Amino acid sequence: MQDYLSNLPNNYLIGFVPTMGALHQGHISLVNYSKKSANVTVCSIFVNPSQFNDKADLERYPRMPEKDSNLLKEANCDILFLPDVSEIYPSELDNSVFNIGYLDTILEGKHRPGHFAGVAQVVSRLFSIVKPNLAFFGSKDYQQVKVVEWITKLYKLPVKIVSCPIVREKDGLAMSSRNMLLSTKEREYATIIFALLSTVAQMLKNNEPINSAKLYINTTLTQNSIYKLEYFEVANRTNLMPQLNFQPNNTVLLIACYVGKIRLIDNLEI
Ligand code: AMP
Repeated sequence: MQDYLSNLPNNYLIGFVPTMGALHQGHISLVNYSKKSANVTVCSIFVNPSQFNDKADLERYPRMPEKDSNLLKEANCDILFLPDVSEIYPSELDNSVFNIGYLDTILEGKHRPGHFAGVAQVVSRLFSIVKPNLAFFGSKDYQQVKVVEWITKLYKLPVKIVSCPIVREKDGLAMSSRNMLLSTKEREYATIIFALLSTVAQMLKNNEPINSAKLYINTTLTQNSIYKLEYFEVANRTNLMPQLNFQPNNTVLLIACYVGKIRLIDNLEI
């Protein structure tokens, strides 16, 4: 792949879409954004062990490279990069630890210790292999985009990070590779996540206090034991710090919630 990329004309822009596979239209939307701005689009599929803080989650993570490859072909993606763990993490590699700062101590960082260190490790490694001009990430993983922007700036990585909108199912559920792990019943129950975010957005716009919004989410989800709320936060869109008072146009609602055994995240910018 590196030979192929190094033989491209010098002025070609390389667009990069890193994924963990089990692709859906959310991933394909990133490929489409890349194709609009870059001359060559590379999509990687790599289930990165170092970002899983839960071993069972890593083991059950869906893997279907052939189906993924066909989807990428249909989307006219130029290159699929499907490396082995040993290619990404050869034993001689210097395993530098990234400073992720306070982002590692809140929300996803707080609840998934080591997760963002793993994300930073794999993203920087993939960047050093693919050397993209542009890299496309989904705002579905809102905090992840902030972490990637942070390390890009801190370590002066020569790439522009592009954040792309969330693609949802018709009933509002954010597309996710993990959705296919839900049973039919759990899949129906999962629609509550986006419904709650939409209701709370309306509550805040109606000047209801943030605490009432949090209480509403808590009481609704505790009514059914299929759910386990991990966090819900009303945060500043730029730095993800919790807001005490709703600030129109500068707020993001972030949620992580188990439906059965499957942990789902979502967010909504207001
Ligand atoms: P993943 O394979 O889950 O690691 O995701 C790979 C990339 O696709 C990340 O940048 C995600 O944020 C993005 N992505 C995942 N789901 C969606 C979605 N529903 N809409 C937009 N982007 C998404």
